[in-house]
Amino acid sequence: MPITLAFLAYRIFDSIWIESIRYFAGAAGVALLCWLLAGRIAHRRIQTRHATNADRLREVRQSMWSMAVFAFVDLMTVALIVAGAIAFNLGPPVLATILWQTAALILMHDAYFYWMHRWMHSKAMFRLLHSVHHLSRTPTSWAAYSFATGEAVFEGIITPLMIVAITIAAPAEPWAVFIFLAHQIARNAFGHAGFELAWPGFTRSPWTGWMTTTTHHDLHHSEGRYNFGLYFTWWDRWMGTEHPRYHERFEAVVNRRRETAAQGSPGHGAVSP
Ligand SMILES: [Zn+2]
Ligand SMILES: [Zn+2]
Repeated sequence: MPITLAFLAYRIFDSIWIESIRYFAGAAGVALLCWLLAGRIAHRRIQTRHATNADRLREVRQSMWSMAVFAFVDLMTVALIVAGAIAFNLGPPVLATILWQTAALILMHDAYFYWMHRWMHSKAMFRLLHSVHHLSRTPTSWAAYSFATGEAVFEGIITPLMIVAITIAAPAEPWAVFIFLAHQIARNAFGHAGFELAWPGFTRSPWTGWMTTTTHHDLHHSEGRYNFGLYFTWWDRWMGTEHPRYHERFEAVVNRRRETAAQGSPGHGAVSP
């Protein structure tokens, strides 16, 4: 495939277009769901502070900037395809391969995110890379890609590298990459939604407690020092970085009764505007 300037420009615009659809489907989908369910989930609002329209606007603007950065990072995928490090299965999809490659992508991404996130919280890196994301003290689903340029680069480069890793065992299944990306934006948007939609007992159950909840990441935004994980709770538990009152905070939200919330009972994580 000849790599021309026109091809690269096409690739950048195509990438921005696809990322935008993914972002707006995830962020707007979760925002719409919360809006439609507003009457039923008002008592599940995690913080007492409400995000403002200015917060949402900043999150959308910053996310659109990140998508432009992702488009340039995606040129790395082109380079890796040309170099033969990434190969896609262009034949009929193989279900077993789709399953293991999807699981591998999610597990690798979770581990990468945890360690990259902890690194970005180091004194040297926080201001430079990650403080923009933490401008959202009361995040909304629009914060999904609200990253500074440097963070967007580190968030973006892992996907082509992970596709290289799965290509070593078998050509990458396009469906595995698609499911991974759909799962990524859905979990990301729900993690910033501001409402806890999981059921009571979720965090302590051996069946579900290994998955992060919205409260898990919301606590990271309101308090910062704990809960660095993305999809799973195990890295935070192994490394002793889970919020010491995570279960209690989660339970305070999901056990709050509707009428109590309607009377304006204080929740947790209240932060000064
Ligand atoms: Zn953080
Ligand atoms: Zn976040």
